[in-house]
Amino acid sequence: MNSRNVHLLRLALVAVSVLLILGYPLIPERKLSLFPSAIDLYTDNDSAIGGNSQAGFIAADYSQWSCTLRPGLEPPNFPSCRIGFTLTEEPEDWTQGRDLSSYDRIRFHYDYEGPAKFLRVHFRNFDKQLSNAENYNSAKFIHITLRDPGPHINETYLLAEFRLADWWIQQFSIPTQQAKISFERVTSLEIDFGEPVPFGDHKIRLYNIELIGKFISKDRWYLLILSAWMLTIVSSILLHLRNLRTQSIEQQNQLKEMNAYANELNQQSNEYRNQAIYDTLTGILNRAGAMQIIESSFNWRKNDDKLALLIIDADHFKQVNDTYGHGIGDIALRQVGQMLLLNTRTRDTVARWGGEEFMLLCPLTPREASMCLAEKLRAAAEKLSFDNLPDFTLTISIGLTIVSRNESFDDAFSRADKALYEAKNGGRNRWAFKE
Ligand code: GH3
Ligand code: MG
Ligand code: MG
Repeated sequence: MNSRNVHLLRLALVAVSVLLILGYPLIPERKLSLFPSAIDLYTDNDSAIGGNSQAGFIAADYSQWSCTLRPGLEPPNFPSCRIGFTLTEEPEDWTQGRDLSSYDRIRFHYDYEGPAKFLRVHFRNFDKQLSNAENYNSAKFIHITLRDPGPHINETYLLAEFRLADWWIQQFSIPTQQAKISFERVTSLEIDFGEPVPFGDHKIRLYNIELIGKFISKDRWYLLILSAWMLTIVSSILLHLRNLRTQSIEQQNQLKEMNAYANELNQQSNEYRNQAIYDTLTGILNRAGAMQIIESSFNWRKNDDKLALLIIDADHFKQVNDTYGHGIGDIALRQVGQMLLLNTRTRDTVARWGGEEFMLLCPLTPREASMCLAEKLRAAAEKLSFDNLPDFTLTISIGLTIVSRNESFDDAFSRADKALYEAKNGGRNRWAFKE
């Protein structure tokens, strides 16, 4: 994906996020009916604390309720009657209330007949930190006052409009920062009349009480959008890292290929170099190869080093070719080359100077030693033979000299050449030394 597309994608994501944030109101609503689908309705009055009020259901479906509030109680008690719903999820444990926190409104649809100027609706919410399972009263008392209740009411209220009762805050000494409404474990909902007590007969017919909320709360909705962003960012970072890794692997591979190519070139250049300095027929150095060594050894030679120079020439080689053929001639030249290698030291330079002529450069070899060597070589050449050519003979002539102090190679060579000439003239198959 190129960078323009990435920018477009980011822009699209921002646009989608904005739309999702603005589109929250369009999320469908869900409803929870507390009445008529309530399962556990009850009614209560003040008779338990010595009051004279009465309360009870009129209709068999519990939809109608009547209450008569009568004087007869002194503060702190006061006459009361109420209708309520238990919202506890587990009958055995009253503290296991329903989680209504995902709802944000409540709708009351009812008829009221009586002298009350307002109704009081309250939830009881069991707070894990503040409430105590031993004391029913310790569940948060969260209430709202419905003014002018009648004759026919169908109103919706925000749950945020409910308030925590002051008496509850005081009774349980709740710190201000914890005195907040909450609906996580709502155990019951009750309707009563509160204070001042509206003495007289009251009648309520309930049609509907329902909680309304979005399928997902605003907080969760935003959290979801935020999480999607986090996911996008993390995955794009991971993707970027993976791309970097792939790139680096590719580069490493390229580097390897280049190295292999360089090695191949190196090998090839070595081959070419070898071809340039070695003689293809005999496998020993050719004249160019020998010259390289000569140049360096002449430069680095200490003055008192004895350097013997030998020029070796096959005798009547033209005749060898003529007699046995050029192929045998070639083999014979190869044998001479090998023979020279075999009879010299590693530090000596053995080269094919051209045609049937060879050159030997032997450092640390004084005059007598060079003569011994020449004789050894001459004798060895004489012994060269071919199994299927019993008459074959090959001899060599050698001109040798000791390179003088500060003498150039060319000068020494021409002296050795003269010595060779002498050897040839002297009858061949011999060596001649020239000072
Ligand atoms: P001399 O004893 O005076 O050196 O006689 P010669 O015949 O060896 O000398 P000449 O210079 O007359 O001839 C050299 C011969 O060596 C001629 C040539 O065909 C042969 N020769 C040179 N290079 C090669 C080669 O690579 N292979 C073969 N088979 N023969 C070669
Ligand atoms: Mg020759
Ligand atoms: Mg010759």
